[in-house]
Amino acid sequence: MSDALLRLRDVTAFYGPAQALFGVDLEVRAGQVVALMGRNGMGKTTTIRAICRLLPHRSGEIAFMGRDISRLPPHRAARLGLGLCPEGRRCFGNLTVEENLLATARPGPWTIERIAALFPRLAERRAQLARTLSGGEQQMLAVGRALATNPRLLILDEATEGLAPAVRREIWSALAALKAEGQAILIVDKTLREMLRLADACVILEKGVTVWSGPPSALTPELRDRHLGV
Ligand code: ATP
Repeated sequence: MSDALLRLRDVTAFYGPAQALFGVDLEVRAGQVVALMGRNGMGKTTTIRAICRLLPHRSGEIAFMGRDISRLPPHRAARLGLGLCPEGRRCFGNLTVEENLLATARPGPWTIERIAALFPRLAERRAQLARTLSGGEQQMLAVGRALATNPRLLILDEATEGLAPAVRREIWSALAALKAEGQAILIVDKTLREMLRLADACVILEKGVTVWSGPPSALTPELRDRHLGV
């Protein structure tokens, strides 16, 4: 038995009849930041959906804290400590910043006050409706909302997409602060440089299969060229 927080072995997934994952292996240990990488359409978001139980399970192992979660409904998986910040933000537009955070809040170290301290812009806009926030502020709120669940594993799918460089920097520095606190994070992001600076381990997907995993320092130019197209 490994001491993995999250462990996927040979996971497959389908959208209707179309197979999207053919054998994903992935492990996140406590306190680790793991970067899930691969070119467009290789299965990163689908892997995250499978972990969070947003896709029906077909085969393979999905274990969280040593427990098989492959047949749990999404809300039960969330309750065990999977905190998802989904692609495309999806905040509740007609609720205020504070109400959005309270809507998902569960007891734990990440109180609304601490989230506000991590993202001062949110603190300033506590009473503002989420739909009137800028894109960057909505993204901060989406991260904050996932944190408010006090997840054992924070999962971020393209949390910096479409944001101005200065706002991205704010998010990366917040993530660095989270890592320093020992928060485990599984991250998908297109800005490789910042992601690799944060990551302890990387997993590369190619057509729905894990083709490589290892530390960022072992990610050679050849691997990047072959699997990431950079
Ligand atoms: P990107 O970086 O472009 O977001 P990704 O690595 O996250 O890509 P996925 O979104 O997981 O890739 O897609 C994996 C495969 O599953 C692709 O071939 C995609 O076309 C397919 N797919 C994704 N969502 C659906 C869906 N709702 N219905 C059918 N096929 C889908």
